[in-house]
Amino acid sequence: MKRVIHWFRRDFRITDNTALAAASLSGEELIPIYIMSDWRSQHGWTGAARQEFLCGSLTALAKNLEAIGGRLIIRKGDAVRELEMLAAETGASAIFANRDPDPFGRAVEARLGAMAKAKGIEFSLHKDACVHERDEVRTGQGTVFRVFTPYSKAWFNLPKPLPGPSIKKLVTPAGIASLPLPQLSDWGLSSLLSTPEPGERAARERLKQFVAGPISSYGENRDIPSLGGTSHLSQDLRFGLISPRQVYAAAKKVEAELPPEGRKNSMKFLAEIVWREFYMQLLWHYPEVMDLEFNPTWRGMNWPGITAVPDAFERWCEGRTGFPIVDAAMRQMAATGWMHNRARMITAMFLTKDLHLDWRLGEAFFMRSLTDGEIASNNGGWQWSAGTGADAAPYFRIQNPWSQTKRYDPDGLYIRKWIPELRNVSNASLLEAPANGLPIASGYPAPILDHSVERNRTMQYFSQHKAQQSVKGLKP
Ligand SMILES: Cc1cc2nc3c(=O)[nH]c(=O)nc-3n(C[C@H](O)[C@H](O)[C@H](O)COP(=O)(O)OP(=O)(O)OC[C@H]3O[C@@H](n4cnc5c(N)ncnc54)[C@H](O)[C@@H]3O)c2cc1C
Repeated sequence: MKRVIHWFRRDFRITDNTALAAASLSGEELIPIYIMSDWRSQHGWTGAARQEFLCGSLTALAKNLEAIGGRLIIRKGDAVRELEMLAAETGASAIFANRDPDPFGRAVEARLGAMAKAKGIEFSLHKDACVHERDEVRTGQGTVFRVFTPYSKAWFNLPKPLPGPSIKKLVTPAGIASLPLPQLSDWGLSSLLSTPEPGERAARERLKQFVAGPISSYGENRDIPSLGGTSHLSQDLRFGLISPRQVYAAAKKVEAELPPEGRKNSMKFLAEIVWREFYMQLLWHYPEVMDLEFNPTWRGMNWPGITAVPDAFERWCEGRTGFPIVDAAMRQMAATGWMHNRARMITAMFLTKDLHLDWRLGEAFFMRSLTDGEIASNNGGWQWSAGTGADAAPYFRIQNPWSQTKRYDPDGLYIRKWIPELRNVSNASLLEAPANGLPIASGYPAPILDHSVERNRTMQYFSQHKAQQSVKGLKP
């Protein structure tokens, strides 16, 4: 009787799960395991939103596995050590897992591979988190794409893998010790957030709803934060409640039935899935972006902050900057663990270009706050906004929060939803800095800075740094 282990990492589903499917074909008995890691003690990225969604999704996974005859084993500790012990306890001869695109996941995989080799355990890693991963999308010369548009063209030109079936039956040997399913309190966290319903079924339903309607007007609506014009699938992709192959296939299926405008919108939506994979392949090839600016020109930049506002970072985190669009976005994230993409760009630019604070501070705060916190996309989004990343907004293209409001929230619907203090003020007062510099409503702060002044400072900081770099001979 061949026993094999499937290690669940960021792939909490039984449909179209590449490694799980391979494991179930390979052994007569399958031991599904999730290992709670002790990441929280090592960095400040673990937050309530993501852990709450993780707990709910693991509960759903455990039920789904039970429904097909399996049993999810929960352990806690160092993954390599736990897997080694589980294999020894159960006599399992193979470990299956899906690859993790981030550097931490890769480091564990390398250690696990070495342990398995030493113990004579078969170890197999599978592609699952991406449609195309690592080296699959290359330039004609075989090099890595550093710019999105040609990457995206090459991505779309490759043949696409089809989603695989659901696992229908599993046998997990009896008597294997397991901890209870994790709860938020296991990480010393608590939450009052309203995060989306977790689990594979809920994620599939979100995808179904999105392709049944909003996808056909995605292009027009995706930038308006008050509209539900986007898919809200980011946390599902993050935890593998659905696969990107399922998303691609679902979009392609409806695309065939849409009029030309709708088809364009579906392509626009799929281009966002490509951004996700673009950032994942960049992180794979350039893991140094975790610490450093992708563009070497901007390495060593000074982010001096704004001296006139010593609590600027706290105000930004709490949504108390006096810039309604920025504050609405930060409060949306605090309440739901999710922030609209347009709002992510506005708040990230505000932190880096108006408050002159290091993008790494914002990156970490987002990681701690978001349900969909994804190392590659978050780093990519932050470096894009700071002007330091791959194919980033050039440093001199600085978004003005007031113009962004006029363009994307002209009626103040988004702002009023998240800032109750501003529910009764006129639209006009949300679209311009108050001329007298006074608060626009009681209980809501006056803007903490003048955007045009800080914009000029940013231009100065960046051009000074560039000049210093060229003196040192470090040309872009
Ligand atoms: C500063 C900043 C930080 C970000 N941090 C994250 C993060 O931690 N996790 C995350 O998943 N996305 C992040 N994004 C990208 C984007 O904002 C979210 O993916 C999107 O808002 C999620 O909503 P949705 O699922 O409705 O997106 P949709 O518009 O419906 O897009 C579909 C899917 O495509 C992917 N996607 C969309 N936009 C992007 C993008 N710009 N970059 C990479 N992937 C994208 C996501 O997986 C998303 O679920 C960040 C963007 C910025 C500017």
